[in-house]
Amino acid sequence: MLPTTGVWDMCICVDCRWVDCCQTYHAVEKQHGVAHLTSTPKFEPKDPLIHISVMDFEDGGSGVEWDVRSCSSFLEDKGRWLRLRPGQNLPR
Ligand code: SF4
Repeated sequence: MLPTTGVWDMCICVDCRWVDCCQTYHAVEKQHGVAHLTSTPKFEPKDPLIHISVMDFEDGGSGVEWDVRSCSSFLEDKGRWLRLRPGQNLPR
């Protein structure tokens, strides 16, 4: 089942069962420059669709944001990323 809305509307992976072993999410983490949940992602998702947007920052800089918006392998596990990183903010 694909999510339609939620607190985290950008990247669906944070509520996915496979987030800590997924090769695509590993690539998203790398693009965002955040710590990896695993150094050896073994799960290869089916048909992930990555939305890429260019962001302009208030300091005049810019950056590129990657977010998975749909994925045939998505298996809902609400709050999985937060349970794996208790007390941390969701990556943006
Ligand atoms: S939604 Fe797809 S790309 Fe994202 S963590 Fe789950 S399996 Fe990986």
